[in-house]
Amino acid sequence: MPVYSADAIVIRSREYGESDRLITLFSREKGKIEAVAKGVRKPKSTQRGGTQLFTYADFLLYRGKTLDTVSQAQPKENFIHLWDDFDRTIAASGITELLDVSTIKEQPEPEAFTLTLSFLFLLKHLDPYIAQASYSLRLMHLLGYLPALDRCAECGRDLKGEQAFLSAEAGGLLCAACKNNRPVKTLNPGSLAIMGQLLGAELKILDRLRWNKKTKEEILGCLCIYCEEKFERKLQAWRQGSELWT
Ligand SMILES: [Zn+2]
Repeated sequence: MPVYSADAIVIRSREYGESDRLITLFSREKGKIEAVAKGVRKPKSTQRGGTQLFTYADFLLYRGKTLDTVSQAQPKENFIHLWDDFDRTIAASGITELLDVSTIKEQPEPEAFTLTLSFLFLLKHLDPYIAQASYSLRLMHLLGYLPALDRCAECGRDLKGEQAFLSAEAGGLLCAACKNNRPVKTLNPGSLAIMGQLLGAELKILDRLRWNKKTKEEILGCLCIYCEEKFERKLQAWRQGSELWT
């Protein structure tokens, strides 16, 4: 059986069979990988720590016919801070969930890997929802899913200083005239300006960014609906989070 190694983050983990876990990894080399971690739910399993959600580890995997199997997991970072605080757990879950739904298996996306790892570290001190929103805008941009944030997708009108409406169906932002009767959420000018900073500011200055409750709700709410429509999947962690940020 061919064996391969992967420098990867556990982005999803669910119970499988009697004592196994089915884990989704996002690796630097191969992108997304699904694998079974056998026996890791047994109390004495030595691989328990390496296969927990958010863990960054060196993996050794066996290639299988349908599913690969984890042979070894050597943790490099367990991101304990993500489990200490519920908001951080939810934001990190939102980050890994979006990475999972927006990528396909075994397509290398090394920049998305680096971005994800950076944000899991940034969640140590950054406002968790600023981190989630900033990560999501950057990931969408990187993968080519982010529309222009300064003009109407239909008529091209400059939206600076105006209300805008984000629509996956229209493929971007709409002005008030082009919105018609579409049931889309409003983004006020202040929110659009903050989105520009969340996307473009240097990572080291993100902790200086401030937003109020209304802006937070608008940005995260619009991003959630946009991504759900774009990828035709319900974002469970985002929905759970919405109870905290609304
Ligand atoms: Zn328009």
